[in-house]
Amino acid sequence: MQTGKINVNTENIFPIIKKFLYSDHEIFLRELVSNAVDASQKLKTLAATGEFKGEIGNADIQVKIDKDAKTVTISDKGIGMTGEEIEKYINQIAFSGAEEFLEKYKDTPEANAIIGHFGLGFYSSFMVAERVEILSRSFKDDAKAVRWECDGSPNFTLEETEKEARGTDIILHIHPDSEEFLEEARIETLLNKYCKFLPVPIQFNEKQVNNVNPAWTKKPADLTDEDYKTFYNELYPFGEEPLFHIHLNVDYPFNLTGILYFPRQKGNAELQKNKIQLYSNQVFVTDSVEGIVPDFLTLLHGVIDSPDIPLNVSRSYLQSDGNVKKISSHITKKVADKLEELFKNSREEFEQKWDDIKVFIQYGMLSDDKFNERASKFNLVKNVDNKFYTIAEYVEFIKPIQTDKEENVIALYTSNLKEQHSFVEAAKSRGYDVLLLDSILDAHMINALESKLEKTRFVRVDADTIDKLINKDEPLPSKLSQEQLDALKPLVEGKIEKTLIVQLEPMSETEPPMLITRPEFMRRMKDMSVAVGGNPFMRDMPEMCNLVINTNHPLIGRILGTEDTDKQSNLISQAKDLALLQQNMLKGEELTKFIKRSVELID
Ligand code: ADP
Repeated sequence: MQTGKINVNTENIFPIIKKFLYSDHEIFLRELVSNAVDASQKLKTLAATGEFKGEIGNADIQVKIDKDAKTVTISDKGIGMTGEEIEKYINQIAFSGAEEFLEKYKDTPEANAIIGHFGLGFYSSFMVAERVEILSRSFKDDAKAVRWECDGSPNFTLEETEKEARGTDIILHIHPDSEEFLEEARIETLLNKYCKFLPVPIQFNEKQVNNVNPAWTKKPADLTDEDYKTFYNELYPFGEEPLFHIHLNVDYPFNLTGILYFPRQKGNAELQKNKIQLYSNQVFVTDSVEGIVPDFLTLLHGVIDSPDIPLNVSRSYLQSDGNVKKISSHITKKVADKLEELFKNSREEFEQKWDDIKVFIQYGMLSDDKFNERASKFNLVKNVDNKFYTIAEYVEFIKPIQTDKEENVIALYTSNLKEQHSFVEAAKSRGYDVLLLDSILDAHMINALESKLEKTRFVRVDADTIDKLINKDEPLPSKLSQEQLDALKPLVEGKIEKTLIVQLEPMSETEPPMLITRPEFMRRMKDMSVAVGGNPFMRDMPEMCNLVINTNHPLIGRILGTEDTDKQSNLISQAKDLALLQQNMLKGEELTKFIKRSVELID
């Protein structure tokens, strides 16, 4: 028997790393099974080149738990190792690699995350084992089986042993702290998380735990729509059926495969939480891809597999990595291509899916210039009659009727069909078209559009009186004299809330006597800050609304004409409350008073 001391500088680095890696002990299984997969695939390569002439036979990897012996064993039938190879690969490379790694990252606050993603290879077995044995027989004809053992100190033993089968058994004598890994359910969960799509069959409890040919590794031509859906269910067993998919396949200038799915985003406030899973050669790495793909793409689901994403670096570094940038813009381009193709080839289908993909497209357009450029071809707006237009189509459509006297094209919209119903009706009765812009990002969207389009503005239907929404002619003459107007304003002001600004407007007699309007600019800034990225001051500021008085309405004449001050004050309050009610703004004490007053009126 050979005994020896592993050549590391620190006397005992195991306890250090063990403590250090408190959060990610479980990755040991991924590391050991990946090594077993590598060893199996290397043997296949050697068989293909003729260097290995024997029978490969059943090369399944076995994971076993022995509760009595308190061991977890990972066995492969791969290339195996000779004594010299263990000396070289395990004693020297694996250990020095780990030591170097530790040295480099021990002062990095992000070390945990880094190690968790990167892994430490064979060395990570000491995170859960107090003693590790390697039994190995190399594929080489004259090779003798060897047994290596180490207890987590730099001391090891290496001796010849008996082993029938080719390949390697890694036997972990689980540490009392880590007995959770002797539970079958725990190991099964881990295999399912990290090894589900590894390319060599893995057996646990007489069952194969992995799919060795996941859909993303196949050619799109060999897959049906059904196959893509089945694979989606494999990834997210309880997920709702996705809308459509994009198969990614690049081999130059970097290697990347994957399938991305568009989820349904109905309701848009609560975004779907299935996450994109990142793999490296079919080994699961992480499901937090922030920094690797642009933020808006994290709304998608699916898998990305790329051995070219450097996982042994911190996230902030990742974002500036050249490869990652290329990968990111490639995925963005592919997503834009897919959407454009769908829009061009089957616009009807695209329109049907619009409500589900709208938030995604808007988020992309607002956050990514390249995507914005591409998406302006297929970015749609929908009107209240469920008709869809591109922005260019829409501007042409409304131009004849909705151009004001200064040659501005005014697009009218509602953000809530129910709440703004009477304003929408008023606009329609003038022959105007009304858009339905009810997503959380619409305020940001139209802001961005206005800065791009010339002489085009978006105005919500309740931003002004119907005559002024699209200001075309001279105002109607007022039926009240200047003297009467001068008396009216302070009279009303004395009877209403301070947040309402009184405005006098001569309108048609058929319009209501009083009306609440919410000027576009202020209201939109407020909406933007409620959504995302707006000014937080705006959000908390009380909104100033206009109380517009239709000076041509007969009721206003009556208010001015009456001598009875109680009646006068009642009429003002009643007309003002009706205006608030129409805007869904009559609440609390004011509402109670209104109801009482109304009951008295009908009595
Ligand atoms: P890495 O896998 O990143 O190279 P590891 O520490 O996991 O680092 O392993 C070090 C080396 O030990 C591997 O490169 C491989 O040559 C050898 N090795 C580890 N596990 C096995 C195995 N099951 N069969 C054959 N060789 C192995």
